Amino acid sequence: MNELMTSSRIKIEPVQNSKIHEIDFDNLVFGRKFSDHMVVMEYENGAWSTPVIKPYGPIEITPAMNSLHYGQAIFEGMKAFYVDEETIHLFRPEVHFERLNNTARRMCIPEMDYETFIVGLEELIKLDHQFVPKKEGTALYIRPFIFASDDLLAARSSNKFSYYIITSPVGAYYPEGFNPVSLTTTDNYVRAVVGGTGEAKTAGNYAASFLPAREAQEAGYTQVLWLDAKERKYIEEVGTMNIHFLIDDVVITPELTGSILPGITRRSVIQLAKDWGYKVEERKITIDEVFEASENGSLKEVFGSGTAAVISPVGRIHHQGKTINIGTGKIGDFAKRLFDEITGMQYGRVEDPYGWIHPVKVQ
Ligand code: PMP
Repeated sequence: MNELMTSSRIKIEPVQNSKIHEIDFDNLVFGRKFSDHMVVMEYENGAWSTPVIKPYGPIEITPAMNSLHYGQAIFEGMKAFYVDEETIHLFRPEVHFERLNNTARRMCIPEMDYETFIVGLEELIKLDHQFVPKKEGTALYIRPFIFASDDLLAARSSNKFSYYIITSPVGAYYPEGFNPVSLTTTDNYVRAVVGGTGEAKTAGNYAASFLPAREAQEAGYTQVLWLDAKERKYIEEVGTMNIHFLIDDVVITPELTGSILPGITRRSVIQLAKDWGYKVEERKITIDEVFEASENGSLKEVFGSGTAAVISPVGRIHHQGKTINIGTGKIGDFAKRLFDEITGMQYGRVEDPYGWIHPVKVQ
């Protein structure tokens, strides 16, 4: 194999034949196709190895591998955006890195340093930059993940871990305009409890949400609107999004209690809203307060925030036999302004005064 050494001394084993021709850039399906390469790094004897970039492909694991049995596995989700032939933008990679390490600590997984994270990611993006789709709304989805790789059936933390970054070109989230999502609460399940793993981006949180999500979909809703696990009245978040309410002219977002994932889009929404002069409240908000605001006409907008869709308008909420409709079936003005501002920065059309954009020069 033809090996290259980059200036940062990451070893690169390039593919012999690129799979770029297999990508149908006009019909990208989320997470189906992957770019040519992946970053790989192993943790053993108390230290991370030097990362290697290799061809994307199947990996060898053993049937006793810890993460298969005990779920010691974590991940991140971020995106790279095409700006021009020379420039790709990453959005807030240092905050994704911080969250990865926070998650790692909670799950007894060794942390890594920013240099290792960002250099591996940049080299991967440079090598596979042709996989970053160019059309409006498209992006290269980036999935860094770490799993316990001890070959041992023992319900305790592993001593060996594997770190990967894989990437996947993804289509525009809203090819036909914004479709408001519908949400339902559930009396049967909770997502996370304070003191549990809700604020960590760990595999089991998602596995545990599949059944409730399926039941919500069978009942005609897009996603579950999670309430707190103890009192079952405070709004927490949605599937893979945080949630925000515009009541009168106040932006209200559930506060981070430990059971909610601290979204990076959420953080960006809060910053922008404050800078635009809105009153922003991060606090507990009950489902009853939202229904009352709908009844008295003060509920202006409801929307979710997350890396995948950036901003998702919510059109309908169901809770214990009652349903409220929000807005007119279109995205609200405030949510649209947030969407335009964030995506504007991501694609390099709008100036970034915050340092959220991390440009990668690919030529
Ligand atoms: N909540 C959950 C449970 C999620 O998986 C995600 C997606 N990472 C979010 C919220 C939104 O977070 P972000 O804005 O960082 O994508």
